Amino acid sequence: MEYKKLTKEEEKVIIKKGTEMPFTGEYCNNFEAGVYVCKRCGTPLYKSKAKFHSDCGWPSFDEEIKGAVNKLPNPDGQRTEIECSNCGAHLGHVFYGEGFTDKNVRHCVNSISLRFIPENKKD
Ligand SMILES: [Zn+2]
Repeated sequence: MEYKKLTKEEEKVIIKKGTEMPFTGEYCNNFEAGVYVCKRCGTPLYKSKAKFHSDCGWPSFDEEIKGAVNKLPNPDGQRTEIECSNCGAHLGHVFYGEGFTDKNVRHCVNSISLRFIPENKKD
């Protein structure tokens, strides 16, 4: 499988596990129907119907596409890192028990780790 060549900005988050500035990501306020895929390898990660308004500054989802996202608890027990299960790209962190949605889960994902494919456009 071929990986997309990453820009410096993409590398900072996807490889070096950085975090983009809040409210700057291109998908923060995107609520079109479609699917979010891994920027690097193109694996579908989240469906648009799992996206919700959290006002946290990053795209938020309450459910990943089954098996597409690995959860890696930090040793400090504070945060759980999430990555693409196919290529290991850093996506962000997952939080539980905040009460945003019925599922009570928030995947806080960097826009730069994702690529959005609108439903009405075949890619
Ligand atoms: Zn990937």
